[in-house]
Amino acid sequence: MGVPEPPPGPLTPPAGPPAEEAERALAALRLVAAELGRRAELAGGEAAEVLEAQVLMAQDPMLAEAVTARTAVGVAAGRAVFEAFGVFRAQLAGAGEYLAARVADLDDLAARAVAAAAGRPMPGVPVRDEPFVLVAHDLAPADTALLDLQKVLALVTEQGGPTSHTAILARARGIPAVVGVAGALELTEDELLLVDASEGAVYVAPTDEFVASAREREAARREAAALATAGTEPIRTPDGREVKLLANIGGAVDVADALAAGAEGVGLFRTEVLYLGAHEPPSYEDQLTAYRAVFEGFAGMTVIARTLDAGADKPLPFLPLGEEPNPSLGVRGIRAFRDAGHEHLLETQLAAMAAAAEGTGVDLWVMAPMIADAEEARWFAAKAREAGIAKVGVMIEVPAAALCAREILAEVDFASIGTNDLTQYTMAADRLVGALGGLQDAGHPAVLKLIAMTAYAGAELGKPVGVCGEAAGDPRLAAELIRLGVTSLSMAPAALAEVRAALR
Ligand code: PEP
Ligand code: MG
Repeated sequence: MGVPEPPPGPLTPPAGPPAEEAERALAALRLVAAELGRRAELAGGEAAEVLEAQVLMAQDPMLAEAVTARTAVGVAAGRAVFEAFGVFRAQLAGAGEYLAARVADLDDLAARAVAAAAGRPMPGVPVRDEPFVLVAHDLAPADTALLDLQKVLALVTEQGGPTSHTAILARARGIPAVVGVAGALELTEDELLLVDASEGAVYVAPTDEFVASAREREAARREAAALATAGTEPIRTPDGREVKLLANIGGAVDVADALAAGAEGVGLFRTEVLYLGAHEPPSYEDQLTAYRAVFEGFAGMTVIARTLDAGADKPLPFLPLGEEPNPSLGVRGIRAFRDAGHEHLLETQLAAMAAAAEGTGVDLWVMAPMIADAEEARWFAAKAREAGIAKVGVMIEVPAAALCAREILAEVDFASIGTNDLTQYTMAADRLVGALGGLQDAGHPAVLKLIAMTAYAGAELGKPVGVCGEAAGDPRLAAELIRLGVTSLSMAPAALAEVRAALR
């Protein structure tokens, strides 16, 4: 993310007297620090730590000095703040791995402070007193994870495909979200919007009758879902095969929702969600506590935990992977640990998972993201087994892995198909690009063929092959996936009832 540059100085836009410009610039830094401090209090936990670190940066006396040195020679407030941050940025970027990871935070802070000093609205999620629909170009996963659910009624973004992590996190948090809406930013403030996430539609200035009928549809949908959840008899195929309906979760906060929705276990525990804002690698002890809180909630059931899936649209601040021309084809998933020299982080995570499961009664399975071939699967399986993990698997989300599913499954105990990435790579359509939403279709015959091949290999070897991408939570696709031989479906807790109803 870059910080938009205000017009160059020293005297454009016309700067007022240096003392006034200095006061305006310093006031902007104070305003930003206060605003971030307020958000830190609201957020709590990991997110609060990130925001508090930003408060400290905004209050750094050296920053204030750099700003006033510029206003003293006639530079306007916005420009002075921009330039002072630029110097800090260069110092941080060159100061080793740990500090370099803070550059993104500094950019975020600089963008807010420059806007405040120049008298423009601050970027980032706006703060309002009344509930609102948030319309944005795009949102970082960390921003989505922090949205105030009391205030944000729905989310509409111009960018982002249906399987972008912003959309997934919004769904997990139960925020109706419609992404990839061309022209969304042309909507004006205070316009009445009706956001129908089940249809993927946004209606501007709907009539009273239309609002009433939407409310009726919503009530009927909830009623049907409640009925489907009431009886949680297992889903069986006509030939008697049981298909478990599992939940995708991001941490202990999701456990109650998953159980209430009748999840029969967890098919994807996205462990990276816990650490999206972490600037230092989570310690063994921190991970032990976080994982145990999840495993205890699913005593007697299976939890499939995924090792950290970093990179592309889910950067982990403590794991700098460098600038890449094409991040989704770059060092991400398992590659971040194997090829980028962070093996010890993976080993710590596996050890923490194994220890956290002990005594909780959970049946723990562990899988790696973005495995490309049998050799990578073998490498991961050896590491996981060494750490004491009994059931080791891989995600199938790279087309090469689906094509070689038999060889890969020979190395591990199970596989889980990540249809979000599998679709992105099969169709060569970036899941973050809203304009390509039409190609991001897991129901496309090309993707279904790869799913069928993987499920067939699993059946041949007698190893489970589930689906944990968003396709599993699509009531229109669920039955087709089972017909292709998939043995379990894992989805956002909010999707469970509708999928169960559709399968019944
Ligand atoms: C997937 O790619 O389908 C998947 C489940 O993983 P993620 O969405 O977290 O990349
Ligand atoms: Mg994936």
